[in-house]
Amino acid sequence: MTQGVDFPQGDAGPLRAEPVLLRGISKSYDGSANVVDALNLDVGAGEFLTILGPSGSGKTSILMMLAGFERPSAGSIRIGERDVSILPPHRRNIGMVFQHYALFPHLTIAQNLAYPLQARRWARQDVAERVEWALSLVRLTAMGSRHPSQLSGGQQQRIALARALIYNPQLVLMDEPLGALDKQLRDQMQDEIIRIHRKLGPTIIYVTHDQGEALSLSDRVCVFEGGRIAQIGAPTDLYEAPTNAFVAGFLGENNAIGGIFLSSDGDRCHVRLKGGEIVCAINIGNGSYGEPVSLAIRPERVKAVPEGSPNVLHVEVIDATYLGDSHRVRSRASDGTEIIWKLPNCGGQALPTPGETIRLGWRTEDARAFPAPRI
Ligand code: ADP
Ligand code: MG
Repeated sequence: MTQGVDFPQGDAGPLRAEPVLLRGISKSYDGSANVVDALNLDVGAGEFLTILGPSGSGKTSILMMLAGFERPSAGSIRIGERDVSILPPHRRNIGMVFQHYALFPHLTIAQNLAYPLQARRWARQDVAERVEWALSLVRLTAMGSRHPSQLSGGQQQRIALARALIYNPQLVLMDEPLGALDKQLRDQMQDEIIRIHRKLGPTIIYVTHDQGEALSLSDRVCVFEGGRIAQIGAPTDLYEAPTNAFVAGFLGENNAIGGIFLSSDGDRCHVRLKGGEIVCAINIGNGSYGEPVSLAIRPERVKAVPEGSPNVLHVEVIDATYLGDSHRVRSRASDGTEIIWKLPNCGGQALPTPGETIRLGWRTEDARAFPAPRI
């Protein structure tokens, strides 16, 4: 995708990006269960923060409270200097993009873009200039006189994005905005959103259940589970150093291997796997002798190793799938646990065959031992 395309001149300057502070935010729809539970969250001015979580974890509820469509059951929300907790939506100056672009079908694209400016009583000439600016921002200058039905889904979503930015909002909220698009369009739109964020620099709070989207778009990702933050951090922190088994399993593929905690020396520990092998791992959660642990290891960090290597597990190959740049091998440890590993496709190498026994190993720093989830 093109980077660094010139933006239209005569725009209203950079957006006034504002920080956002949520303090003790809870939401209950039925007066008993909290779907968002005592949430504290700080988003920096101009930051791109993604809330990532499974369906039903409370992501949309957070955006609805930020936008002012739902009242928090407890807690306060600040945007910049203002406590907006009880302000109605139209007084919060927030841009919004949703999965269903919700353009007015009976208005042209230019009229759709002009609408929020007219509602804010911009002067006629300023509206016309700003609509041109917005069309050019999303590279759809020729489309102003068309109706939404004459645009593709991807183009309509770009217009929805332009409409959310047109009145210089201090904060932009996006709720699964790419959910209705096919894979190729999603990738293009991700590039478009990154380009616009770099250029205009608004604070963006983005919601998705797609971990690839979260990792590639965001400055920080807030992983959400059951109304609470499971972990928040830069994409690399979350992928490389998950602090709990939920995050390890939710972001990217992971092997979860059961074992028993033996001993630790600070940040490392010894674990006896169910098949009897004794291995080392990073120690998360201060286990004590005999406690069940779950070892998390990424498939791309597991490989066939020579005899005498540390952290060894013998497996029987189930099958290998060709992925182009790699082969994804499914195999089974002696206790029945399925182990996935990835073999980079360097060309010319022999592939593991079903039924073959392989000695797998990993570096100690690539295995993380979490307290086993209670069942
Ligand atoms: P997500 O966006 O992560 O899928 P939501 O915030 O939409 O999660 O929903 C969280 C929980 O709150 C779900 O159990 C959902 O059924 C419930 N919920 C959401 N909106 C309402 C509402 N307006 N009334 C009652 N329950 C709701
Ligand atoms: Mg939702």
